[in-house]
Amino acid sequence: MLGRREALKLLLTSPLLLVGEAVARSRPVILRVRYSATRERTRIVLDCTGKVERSWIKEHFSGNTLWLTFKGVGASRRMARLLRRSPLVREVEVIPVTHTKARVKVVMREPHKFKIFGLRPCGRRPFRVVIDVFPDYLPIECAVRKVPQRIVVIDPGHGGKDPGAVWPIGSKHPRIEEKWITLAIALKVRKYLSRNPNIKVVMTRTRDVYVPLLKRAEIAAKVCADAFVSIHADSMPNYPNWSGVTVFKASPALFAKAQQMARKVAKNVRMCSDTMCWSISPLLINLSTTVTFAESAKLARAIVESLKAHVNDELINGIKDMRRNIVVLKTPGRPAVLIESGFITNPLDRKRLVEPWYQDEIARGIARGIEHYLDSLNAVAYLERRR
Ligand SMILES: [Zn+2]
Repeated sequence: MLGRREALKLLLTSPLLLVGEAVARSRPVILRVRYSATRERTRIVLDCTGKVERSWIKEHFSGNTLWLTFKGVGASRRMARLLRRSPLVREVEVIPVTHTKARVKVVMREPHKFKIFGLRPCGRRPFRVVIDVFPDYLPIECAVRKVPQRIVVIDPGHGGKDPGAVWPIGSKHPRIEEKWITLAIALKVRKYLSRNPNIKVVMTRTRDVYVPLLKRAEIAAKVCADAFVSIHADSMPNYPNWSGVTVFKASPALFAKAQQMARKVAKNVRMCSDTMCWSISPLLINLSTTVTFAESAKLARAIVESLKAHVNDELINGIKDMRRNIVVLKTPGRPAVLIESGFITNPLDRKRLVEPWYQDEIARGIARGIEHYLDSLNAVAYLERRR
């Protein structure tokens, strides 16, 4: 007798065996490979005879090469193209494997982030698979920025479906949610910083919405932020006595790890968000982490000093190293700190944190600290210009 599993297997595979040939003939085929290139993006387009589901494409990144395996998709012939006009991609090759399997090899000049999606027929264009390749954090853009303004990214932690820490813990309808405290403080920080004409503030969110961590890091990278400040509130249910404001920077161990990774040139750091995956060039990490480490410590010191002046200084715990792997503290090239503005699990902190006057004190402390840090940058820039 057949076991349940065998019976199921037979049931699933036999119809496919019978109609396999017919299906194979109707499966889409890659006909052509085209591309267009700008500094910000290289677009590789595969013209196909039919619709290709995203789930049929498996990706594998190795060294500088992105391998795409198309299951259930053929290729009319072997096609190879050198992308001379692209600053990002060296060459693309379409390799037929069987009638229903093809591989596409994308050799990048350096590991870059990419996005793959399908397009329906439009006008004379057939079904298409698009591979967009973007540079990693556009480091050159930052160097040539002409705006005399400094850019600060303020990141209110959590939001939307992610409430952060809550009180009472485990309650279905908590009275206090971290996401509202972080947003309130962050908006006040923006208010204070906006009074300074030399500072432009970019927020990762201004409403109660969910923003993935990588998206936040990406925002900081894209605008070439001079400082990235993430605002949170802590929760320590087992230590209700713990209270006060703590400023976190990434720990030396975390940076050492990033540098170690950087040395292994063959192994790229790969990160994935909800919508795309990308690799960060090891070279870029190596260059930027050294600077970022020192600058983040400077930013943290400036904020703590200022908080002590604006908030009762017994409530300021000082600077701590974040040992957890926090994405937002590792934005390459961006000095970044994370501020835990108090403990929701401490009765006194909890009472203060929801009060607008206390949020205001903390916000003013943070804003002045950021200003002091940016002033120190401007001083260095001035000295260099005079030389
Ligand atoms: Zn948090």
